[in-house]
Amino acid sequence: TRPQVVIIGRPNVGKSTLFNRLVGKKLALVDDQPGVTRDRRFGTAGLMGLEFEAVDTAGWEDEDAESLPGRMRAQTEVSLQGADAALFVIDARAGVTPLDEEIARWLRGQNVPVVLLANKAEGSAGDAGIMESYALGFGDPVGISAEHGEGVAEIYTALAPLL
Ligand code: GDP
Ligand code: MG
Repeated sequence: TRPQVVIIGRPNVGKSTLFNRLVGKKLALVDDQPGVTRDRRFGTAGLMGLEFEAVDTAGWEDEDAESLPGRMRAQTEVSLQGADAALFVIDARAGVTPLDEEIARWLRGQNVPVVLLANKAEGSAGDAGIMESYALGFGDPVGISAEHGEGVAEIYTALAPLL
């Protein structure tokens, strides 16, 4: 079976854009599942020959920020069960927000290796955010642009050793 990689992060950082980018033409295989998993999407991702099951999470997108920790335990913890790695996405243009820090704290308590992706980093608008994101404690952030397809090779380099 393919390794499973969960995409997590606060709303609007580009998780679904990244998911679609990774899953590409195989998007048709994406399943909307009922019940507790309704907010997750699954797809077979191809990344420079590396195949894995990508999971797009959105369990708390409609919730207000205050309820995030509870929602994350209910949804993301389930997503992380059996996951081989997590792609933790932030918005490099927005920089590190309190919600990103909250997610980072929570993620550190989970037993899953994490690759930090600083998205929306096309051009140089993300440079400050990328530097800031070292402080989240997941090692070198990978600057990417999910929308423009930049940083794919760097995601591969960071993720492949974990799978
Ligand atoms: P999600 O809520 O984390 O799933 O984020 P989405 O994938 O829905 O994207 C949120 C917004 O960010 C959308 O308007 C996207 O077009 C935009 N976006 C996603 N990736 C990028 C990127 O690499 N660069 C820029 N500039 N915008 C992006
Ligand atoms: Mg989304």
